[in-house]
Amino acid sequence: MKVTDYFEKAKGQTLISYEVLPPLKGGGMQAIFDTLDPLMEFKPPFVDVTYHREEFIYNKRASGYYEKTAIRKRPGTVGICASIMHRYGVDAVPHLICGGFTKEDTENALIDLNFLNINNVLALRGDARKFDGKFIPEPDGHKFALDLVKQITDMNEGKYLDTNIENGEKMDFCIGVAGYPEKHFEAPNMDSDLAFAKAKVDAGANYIVTQMFFDNQKYFDFVDACRNAGIDVPIVPGLKPITKKYQLNSLPRLFFLDMPDDLVKAISEAKNSEAMKEVGIEWAIAQSKELKAKGAPCLHYYTMGDSDTIRRIVESVF
Ligand code: FAD
Repeated sequence: MKVTDYFEKAKGQTLISYEVLPPLKGGGMQAIFDTLDPLMEFKPPFVDVTYHREEFIYNKRASGYYEKTAIRKRPGTVGICASIMHRYGVDAVPHLICGGFTKEDTENALIDLNFLNINNVLALRGDARKFDGKFIPEPDGHKFALDLVKQITDMNEGKYLDTNIENGEKMDFCIGVAGYPEKHFEAPNMDSDLAFAKAKVDAGANYIVTQMFFDNQKYFDFVDACRNAGIDVPIVPGLKPITKKYQLNSLPRLFFLDMPDDLVKAISEAKNSEAMKEVGIEWAIAQSKELKAKGAPCLHYYTMGDSDTIRRIVESVF
């Protein structure tokens, strides 16, 4: 079933969903099951699976030459989605990125997904690889998520890259895209970012999932701004609890977000790491309760493999 059909069927009730990451360096499927098993009793209708482009580093050899080495190898998102669907009987939403994909690769990935009855995707650009400094698409790949959305919409209309394919099988993908309550870091301002978010929706995106945030007002303002800009699709808040003190600095650096004063103060004053973790969990519970009370369509939890913490939050809220 499509993600947006779940929202409609829920008739205003707030749903739950989770995001999981493919395990690193050849780890097995059990790592994903260990994360999801304790969380599935809360009946998420769908689970997202991220996609990670391979990173490379350059190691200097004794000869003075540099050797290119692949790091962070993760198994295929498509296979993980199929395993999740099979084990739990829920829908899986693979993330599909522009980075590292030619248009042909994307078309083939979509054909595989359709074949496996996976008809939801989250269409993203992907980040720059570390040594690139800025996002560089494949020579025949997409530069922006907008172009990826257009390709998926084309396939939903039976239009393939090879124009010789007439009356191609029409796909039926429900398309999610990313949104940024605190602005995407490359956008010159919020209006510009919203204009491109609107372009993604006009091109066929059916719903938006937000970047994490720690101040709910940022989400409410973002939803208002989207509505004012003519974006009328469901906007799902993405949530991540703080569980480690260093995240006070690393999350703003990695995700370009602000931490509210009260949260910074409470974490800084916590006596030890357990007390600090409690602050983070209680904050996420309060955020979730308010978002639910104000009618968010779904609370989307970035699990990052920490099912104990996510379970504590979800069982307090649902
Ligand atoms: P876009 O929508 O393409 O926007 C990128 C920037 O370009 C923005 O500043 C936008 O304003 C601007 N822009 C957009 N269109 C145009 C245009 N036509 N002309 C000029 N400027 C334009 N990354 C991964 O690698 N794997 C994942 O699985 C993953 N999952 C994510 C899930 C969520 C919910 C979120 C919020 C992010 C995720 N990311 C993931 C990170 C994401 O790839 C990065 O944030 C990336 O930098 C931007 O992706 P996007 O899809 O928002 O890009």
